[in-house]
Amino acid sequence: MEIIHVSAECYPYAKVGGLADVVGTLPKYQQQAGHVAKVVVPMHRTKFLYDNEWTVEHKGSFNMGSLYFDYTIIKEKNNKLGFDLYCVDIYGLLDREKVYTYDDDTERFTAFQIAVVDWIAQWEHRPGVVHVHDHHTALIPFMMQHCFAYRHLSGVPTVLTIHNGQYQGWMGWDKSNYIPAWDTWQWGLLDWSNTINPLACGVKCADRVTTVSPSYMEELTENANGLEQLFRMERMKCTGILNGIDTQVWDPEKDTYILDNFSISDAEAGKQLNKKKLCDDFQLDMEKPLFVYIGRMVGEKAADLLPQAINDAFSHIGSKMNFLILGSGDPSVEEQLSAMNKGYVGYYNSQIGYNEKLSHQMYAGADFLLMPSRVEPCGLNQMYALRYGTIPIVRRTGGLKDTVIDFGEPNGYGICFNYATVWDITYSIHRAVELYDDKEKMKSIIGQIMKIDNSWETSSEKYINLYQSIRQI
Ligand code: ADP
Repeated sequence: MEIIHVSAECYPYAKVGGLADVVGTLPKYQQQAGHVAKVVVPMHRTKFLYDNEWTVEHKGSFNMGSLYFDYTIIKEKNNKLGFDLYCVDIYGLLDREKVYTYDDDTERFTAFQIAVVDWIAQWEHRPGVVHVHDHHTALIPFMMQHCFAYRHLSGVPTVLTIHNGQYQGWMGWDKSNYIPAWDTWQWGLLDWSNTINPLACGVKCADRVTTVSPSYMEELTENANGLEQLFRMERMKCTGILNGIDTQVWDPEKDTYILDNFSISDAEAGKQLNKKKLCDDFQLDMEKPLFVYIGRMVGEKAADLLPQAINDAFSHIGSKMNFLILGSGDPSVEEQLSAMNKGYVGYYNSQIGYNEKLSHQMYAGADFLLMPSRVEPCGLNQMYALRYGTIPIVRRTGGLKDTVIDFGEPNGYGICFNYATVWDITYSIHRAVELYDDKEKMKSIIGQIMKIDNSWETSSEKYINLYQSIRQI
């Protein structure tokens, strides 16, 4: 089957968060299972773009309202990622440094989607399935079904995966003319609460909708930034498929970013060496448990609770532990977390920014990973932590609920709490500090978690079954 993934991100070409990891991995597994998987992304000026060779695949043009654009589709020449990667270049619109957060993101991503559909519409054959990811690509099923120029694609099955339902790509009705001439009888498919809502439109128009974990699917019917009713109505075509992790990239035995590679058999010594490097680099105390946080500092991740939770942990439990924080996002949270570097020298440190290498070193060297998320559609960090023998401390939400069992429960191995509150985080830190003192228990949990199989094989097969089920309709 030929599967076309369309996404704003794809690791290692361009990454902001978990979306990139998924789109950089799932197609590779689909390819290995004997399918033809291709990924189409907008052009971003990334290192990967400049470090690799590209060939021109197609040139075209289209109108978007009163604007006219030429576009070029280029293809990465050497199949570096294990699947064909295509990049859509629209001069002046898509060739930017950052992936998101430009004032004209609506124009950028609408134009990107038009270019993708316009290109596919000119193929001599039809793809087996078009799989779009998040709101940046969610207008594509509508365009394939209701734009006059592309209606011959209406029989091609489409799947929308929601990696994050909080962002929906809202655009005013004044921009409805951006969408290539479409059947205005179908305006209701674009609309949600009197605005064009690309994510809602994708949910209505795609043949199947998936979320990145089963629990997140359930949660969206109760809490979906205004789309709860829609998810309840469309429940029958929605399903949750848990993300996997790329076990070739995230492998403590082969990871080139970490100081000392290790496996289950020498995990204790291996983790100690990696911890020592981190503690030396960040002036932390090797003898104490090391808690890390890696991620975007935004409300969804509840990073705003960390300063108070860490302060409270130090005042209630004493300086029995270390913290190391890596991330960026909300400037006030960044500022508070950085300011604490001076207050707790020797026990606490933070680095603001994005650092892939350091993140690997932290998964490898830490004892515990903090994930107090308010919303977590799937979450990859906890799965990376498990593979590197680091015990995740998570709030029971979304994918965290589906992948971590509290060590107090049968077969449990993590630390779970119910509410995204300072108290719950501090209490969980306390539990972790006590667990750390029980060396035998720690050793057995580390052995247990490193064996957990969160690889893509199972999930990738679920997607294939899903595609096949629509093709038979
Ligand atoms: P989300 O996509 O919501 O940000 P996920 O848990 O799905 O969250 O994926 C986050 C990914 O981004 C993980 O691979 C994590 O290691 C990585 N990551 C997040 N912030 C940083 C950072 N500051 N430096 C390095 N890697 C980061």
